[in-house]
Amino acid sequence: MMTFEGLGIDARLIQATDELGYVNPTAIQEQAIPILLSGTQDFIGLAQTGTGKTAAFGLPLLHIIDAAAKYPQALIVCPTRELCMQIVKEIELFKKYMTGISVVAVYGGASIGLQIRDLKRGVQIVVATPGRLIDLIERKAINLEQIKYVVLDEADEMLNMGFQEDIEFILKNTPKRESTWLFSATMPTEIRKVSKKYMKDPKEVIVGKVNTANKNIDHQYYVTTAQHRYDTLKRIIDFNPGIYGIIFTRTKLDAQEISERLTREGYDIDALHGDLTQVQRDKVMGQFRDKTLQLLIATDVAARGIDVQGITHVINFELPDDIEIYTHRSGRTGRAGLQGICISIVHAKEMYKFKQIERINNSQFHKMDIPSGKDVCRKQFFSFMDKLLSADISHGDYETYVPMLAEKFVDVSKEDVLKRVAAMEFDRFLKYYEHAEDLNVRERDRAPRRDENASSDRGPRREGRESGREGREGLSPRTEARNAEFKRGGSGYSRLFVNLGTKDGFFKASFLQYVLDMSDLKKDVLGKIDMRDMNSWIEIEKGAAQQMIHALDGKKYKGRSIRMNDADSGGPAGFSSDRSRRPRRGE
Ligand code: AMP
Repeated sequence: MMTFEGLGIDARLIQATDELGYVNPTAIQEQAIPILLSGTQDFIGLAQTGTGKTAAFGLPLLHIIDAAAKYPQALIVCPTRELCMQIVKEIELFKKYMTGISVVAVYGGASIGLQIRDLKRGVQIVVATPGRLIDLIERKAINLEQIKYVVLDEADEMLNMGFQEDIEFILKNTPKRESTWLFSATMPTEIRKVSKKYMKDPKEVIVGKVNTANKNIDHQYYVTTAQHRYDTLKRIIDFNPGIYGIIFTRTKLDAQEISERLTREGYDIDALHGDLTQVQRDKVMGQFRDKTLQLLIATDVAARGIDVQGITHVINFELPDDIEIYTHRSGRTGRAGLQGICISIVHAKEMYKFKQIERINNSQFHKMDIPSGKDVCRKQFFSFMDKLLSADISHGDYETYVPMLAEKFVDVSKEDVLKRVAAMEFDRFLKYYEHAEDLNVRERDRAPRRDENASSDRGPRREGRESGREGREGLSPRTEARNAEFKRGGSGYSRLFVNLGTKDGFFKASFLQYVLDMSDLKKDVLGKIDMRDMNSWIEIEKGAAQQMIHALDGKKYKGRSIRMNDADSGGPAGFSSDRSRRPRRGE
């Protein structure tokens, strides 16, 4: 059996490891330490957390540091503040019998002023998270000129969190680097690329089985149409009552709109995007971390570096174009040995992308059926009943009231009580999902349906937070009846064409709110709305049409002139109704 003495490390370090109860080196220590003690050999250690890798780089680092030179010589970069603190703690223990060596942790979310003060004390080892390190470099509070050793710990996690550029920046800005020691649990292609670019003939050591993908993540996808994306998202959330997740969108406008819409419908969600001030951002992140917020919706840029433990789901509202971004997003879940689910809502045309991701990530995607309304209700129902059964009743003074209750309920069976409790909790859910349509795109559905309508009704969640105007969602029975009438062909409606569409950043609800606000009309005058990328068609009671045209036509939206007119008297034809199919002049 190999001993620490046999590895050739300083006696003072051996004394400390002895005290820590380390009898023999672990596999990664045995293989890494002799290589790292040279100080000049680049190194890649593929090892999971828990294999003793902190000592594998910490002990040789302490052995080769020059205690007399009072400037940063070694830089350990790791993904999270927790890991930062843990590494410093272990190094402090290892160097118990050494004098003159200082180590400092610098990470985000803590006072940068205090960290700058610590750095000025002449430390030799700096343990940092990438974001804060870059901040310190930019403030010229840390000098990397003399850094000889750079350790990248949990490199795959850092790349998952979107720190690739920062890491490259750090490697580029350590001109006197004599060796780079990279530790990672997995070996994705991005790490290979970084190592090829910045390391010289690295010696590679593998401990245990190395995966190229995080096997704790289940990759799932749901196929739906573009206009059912939002409802699918809602259904997925409702189908997972205990969800604690991040939803990714491509644009900040989408993040903002979806967040607002879900908030109105009673979900615990907030958005994180580039337009927030640091204070607003910290507030949102604080709430998410505390789990006061169940859901966070973010753009990739805004979510960079977010490190939150216990995320159960990552949801791609749309698939990113870039495979690397998919990896970054999915890497927010399934961490620290926990299981996670990464869900993508996709259009049938996007499915080819999965093949690429599967190949590169060495992971497999599972196609899921979008749950039916009944599935959602069942799931919520049982989740609620589980909560009911596990409610803590040990502290209340229930004995005082129960006898009275027993009297009150003398004629009500247990089943009836349960039904009543369920009705109180689920009435809205049940109603909402009663006639919920199938949102899956089945093979037979692929041809575009002509009567595709917007989502059926308003959200099932808390009513208190809903705003007055709901857009297409929450149509009154009167409006629904009118829609049906419209479909039958005889209507008292005009169809208005307007040159605003989803490309202008509108969702149906926000679009409706906008036209109603502009025209000061009530939702009830509206019928069907058909939104396309650049244009939309609004069905409106004949008597109200002119008021809307007058209010919008010729006005500016984001600097662009709005054009609105009656589609049936010369404007562009639209709508998937039969009326739009009438032959035009010359056809
Ligand atoms: P790490 O992979 O660095 O997070 O280490 C995992 C745990 O193993 C830590 O609690 C270390 O203190 C412990 N450990 C590291 N090296 C040894 C060793 N040679 N013998 C016993 N325990 C160790």
